[in-house]
Amino acid sequence: MLPIIINDTVFIGEYKECLVSIQKLILPGVRKTCPTCRIPCCKLSTPERSIYVASSVGGFDITDYLLSRYDSILPDPDYGNAERNLCPFWKGGCILPPDCRSYLCVQYFCDELKSELDMKLISEELRKIESVLNGFSIAECMV
Ligand code: SF4
Ligand code: SF4
Repeated sequence: MLPIIINDTVFIGEYKECLVSIQKLILPGVRKTCPTCRIPCCKLSTPERSIYVASSVGGFDITDYLLSRYDSILPDPDYGNAERNLCPFWKGGCILPPDCRSYLCVQYFCDELKSELDMKLISEELRKIESVLNGFSIAECMV
């Protein structure tokens, strides 16, 4: 898939910087907690817990998808994963680059992961990402 052309690059840089910042906070906890997880949250549906909004691929909505795709070619989704109830971007872990994730995927924390994280710092980072997403206008970047 080719990258998407967007006129307004400020939001793209900000979105990606925020993703990198938040994942610096999250990934140490993920490395500690997730490898031994019995019910991973990257499933399409779980009765107990799931990141996912049904019908979304990688948790993207149109805004974070455009910002993620601007300068990056994302790996092809593996829709065969659906047979195993897994996100199409999962292959022994998330195959999306850290600065190309959806907002949905960086705001899910199970209790085990939460206990490893500084949730106050993470909440601040989430607010920054939300503010970038809210400020981005698809209509304006297409004129
Ligand atoms: S965040 Fe929690 S539920 Fe998701 S894979 Fe890691 S340990 Fe499992
Ligand atoms: S995109 Fe990555 S983090 Fe999000 S649900 Fe899929 S595999 Fe998990």
